[in-house]
Amino acid sequence: MKINFVDLKKGYKLHKTEVDNAIQKVLDSSGFILGEEVKRFEKKFAKYSGAKYCIGVSSGTEALILSLKALGVGEGDEVITVANTFIATAASIFHVGAKPILVDIDEKSYNIDVGKIESKISKRTKAIIPVHLYGRPAEMDTIKMIAEKYKLKVIEDACQAHGAKYKGRKVGSIGDIAAFSFYPGKNLGAYGDAGAITTNDSSLARKVELLRNHGQSVKYKHDLLGFTSRIDTLHAAVLEVKLKYLEKNNALRKSIAKKYNKLFEGYNVIVPEFNKDFDSVFHLYVIQVENRDGLLKYLNDKGIAAQIHYPIPIHRQSAWKVFGYKDEKFEVTDRVAKNIISLPIYPELKDEEIEYIAKSVQNFVKKGL
Ligand SMILES: *Cc1c(COP(=O)(O)O)cnc(C)c1O
Repeated sequence: MKINFVDLKKGYKLHKTEVDNAIQKVLDSSGFILGEEVKRFEKKFAKYSGAKYCIGVSSGTEALILSLKALGVGEGDEVITVANTFIATAASIFHVGAKPILVDIDEKSYNIDVGKIESKISKRTKAIIPVHLYGRPAEMDTIKMIAEKYKLKVIEDACQAHGAKYKGRKVGSIGDIAAFSFYPGKNLGAYGDAGAITTNDSSLARKVELLRNHGQSVKYKHDLLGFTSRIDTLHAAVLEVKLKYLEKNNALRKSIAKKYNKLFEGYNVIVPEFNKDFDSVFHLYVIQVENRDGLLKYLNDKGIAAQIHYPIPIHRQSAWKVFGYKDEKFEVTDRVAKNIISLPIYPELKDEEIEYIAKSVQNFVKKGL
């Protein structure tokens, strides 16, 4: 058997006619920039996320950068985020001229350890960016309490968590503003790079709307210095189709995670927790095992494209070092980075594939936990 880590072709084939028609319509109208599909998708994605506003942008990274800009974060400011995340979370903070301050993760949730945030707050701190990593919501109540106490803004990095629910509320509607990525492999993926911000704050929404389009309020009238950061109409058209299937696909991901968890019972595998207050959409299915590198090679040799998210934490990247940080240690992040491995999880994964993957893991790890 050969099992890819994600299989975009299968997803496309399932809805080929509908997607092809949506693309053809854009080609026919040639409204390539901010066409009617953009407005329609934004409206639908805002509704889906339980937020008042959605502004489509060119990527998840751009969504983070424009969120920071809209909140006025810049030179001399500090922004707190987490050591175990994709590089873009921290890089976006650098890109607005501010300094990322990292916090370790909680071992069980893999998300920011909320007990370690306050000690990192200084007079320069302006915002916190919690990441809903692997599709599991961060502990938003505590984060919002801390933010209120110190008058900080909260930017949700929801790039892996479309549709995830924290205590019954969809992520993207909980903080001051949120960033989503529609990178093709995400739970809701475009056919190229795309992203969005969601917010309940009309003035933030308006700012992002200007920033993504050269700060332009009407053609050639520039109220702000902006960027070319719009979502393409073609992507919005594809996303509008795919959004209809997101709930169903998230449910399929959840049921695959449940199957894996069951198949690993009695084995030396630490599996992700199911918790209805932190309702994950399983963008990734991450387990911890001993001899992770051995397992990765074993699975790859068996045709299973397992991966690691992330093999090198932010504070150990060379790109991070150039900014002159001292050697930092984050005990949990550093330890977990050696044991984590992500197994394939996507809606089109078949039962026999799930069993083949799980059996292969069972064969490698020892029994008894
Ligand atoms: C994917 C991702 C991003 C960046 O999104 P792009 O669309 O690739 O720019 C940011 N943060 C996290 C946690 C992500 O997974």
